[in-house]
Amino acid sequence: MRRLLGDPHDDWDAVADELHERRAASVVGRVRPLDDLHDPLRLKRLAEGGPDALEAEFEELATELDEETWAATGPLKTCVLFWPPEECAQLLECYPTVADAYGGHPRQVERTLRELSVQGALHLAVGRATVSGLEAHVDEKGGSPDLPAARSRYAAELARRGLAADWPPARTGPCWCGSERKYKKCCGNPAPG
Ligand SMILES: [Zn+2]
Repeated sequence: MRRLLGDPHDDWDAVADELHERRAASVVGRVRPLDDLHDPLRLKRLAEGGPDALEAEFEELATELDEETWAATGPLKTCVLFWPPEECAQLLECYPTVADAYGGHPRQVERTLRELSVQGALHLAVGRATVSGLEAHVDEKGGSPDLPAARSRYAAELARRGLAADWPPARTGPCWCGSERKYKKCCGNPAPG
């Protein structure tokens, strides 16, 4: 939990580090570094949710620390959702209460990613969201598409399944928003027009 908060290490963390290193030594390359766990989006999710959210979070962390998940998915990513216009329209039509919270505009998504980067998120990604994908996610994992925590877990799942793009992209590479412009001339522009 302290790793998640980005707090300084204490004696217990030193013990955890040592045990973790011993374990890592016996299963080379397959143990997730504990400090990977710092994730501002997760913290936000915890702050907004009740006891159920905490329980779900522990469950998710346990899955992500699992050796096989780690081997399959690589670094734990802090993933922000981007709703392309047609999906965004459908989302707002089906779930009108989402209107105040959604991240639909690329500029808004880019700003969120930059803020997370400043807050020390280590591996950022952006996932293209679809209403059908979100609904399938809550059918399987529970929650409601109306709630930020469910959407944030859907984002984490996209990243885990390799369906999110690493952020930032190369400056001269294609932009993550799908505009087919170079990142530096699109959302990567320091002062987007
Ligand atoms: Zn763009």
